[in-house]
Amino acid sequence: MSYGTYESDWDAHEYAAAIKARFSIVAVIGETVRLKKVGKEFKGRCPFHDDKTPSLSVREDWGWFRCFGCEAAGDVINFVQRSENLTFFEAMRKLEMGTYVPRPPLTFEPRDDDRIRIAREMWAAARPIEDTPAMKYLESRGFPSPFIADQENLRSSNLSIDGSAKKHPVLMAAARSVDGEITAVQCTFLTEEGAKLQESSRRSYGVIAGSAIRLQSVAGATSEPSDVWLCEGLEDGLSLARLYEEATVWATLGAGNLPNITLPSSCSEVTIAGDNDESGRKASELAVRRYGNEGYEVKTNFPPADFKDWNEFLMHWEFEEEDGEGNKLPWRYWYDGDAFDEEGACLGLSFPPELRTAANFKAPL
Ligand SMILES: [Zn+2]
Repeated sequence: MSYGTYESDWDAHEYAAAIKARFSIVAVIGETVRLKKVGKEFKGRCPFHDDKTPSLSVREDWGWFRCFGCEAAGDVINFVQRSENLTFFEAMRKLEMGTYVPRPPLTFEPRDDDRIRIAREMWAAARPIEDTPAMKYLESRGFPSPFIADQENLRSSNLSIDGSAKKHPVLMAAARSVDGEITAVQCTFLTEEGAKLQESSRRSYGVIAGSAIRLQSVAGATSEPSDVWLCEGLEDGLSLARLYEEATVWATLGAGNLPNITLPSSCSEVTIAGDNDESGRKASELAVRRYGNEGYEVKTNFPPADFKDWNEFLMHWEFEEEDGEGNKLPWRYWYDGDAFDEEGACLGLSFPPELRTAANFKAPL
């Protein structure tokens, strides 16, 4: 089995970090090796050589194992890789989908407190978004200003990027844990004209794992949602909140965090609203398994095939077609429920086939 596509299209580093955060190395090794706690380390007989004495040392705090007999060493993924003779990517998949029990969600390390405090201070110092380059930027992505002004988790600021002295306008989004507390802020650095400052204009501060940016749909926020929609990026989340007026949409700040979210106790359904690219599909696949394994009813929803993500779709949602009496049809006219493939997987918005090409959409004026 080849996982070559992961190496090119998937952010392997981000994926590995998410896997390592989810699985305790002591718990995983402890499934096959009897471990005994000695001070800060756990000791056991090494499975990789004929070990008469306990030569294997495992440190939970370092996420690391090492054998003083045969020099085998590595992290939790390396352990699974080696003991089951898998590639690195196969070992990550095995952890993700196998029988290993993940950690209880969302346990903060003590050092995370400082990072969270900094994120909260940044948020507290930020300003409302009205009449700022941040608003201009979002308008350029297809969002009307009253819709953006309603977003409680968006603000504007002026910050320097990567330690440089010069400050730039910033679109700031707050990510919250399941209890509603801010744990991270995502900053998009902009020009005064509201364009992205550079190719890579995004930086996150604080602790992202498990948290999401909650977007306000047209119908308003629900404090106890039964169905939460999860998507990767901020613009996708805003697009979904605009397109699906009743949906509770949370943006996870990236593919790696999509399967990581701690959901409210009122929630029994999860809709994974993915991107159409390879990494988006992979992230959605992992998320479907994770939430499905935990007993949630899981659906997926992807933009129509001509569009790479939900924002691109939103940018084209105004149809040219009219209803024959000269009235422009609202986009929802074409929404006739979800389409399903042979396996029962939801394919997303369903359109009459003749309307599925980009030529039938036009950009808003
Ligand atoms: Zn050994």
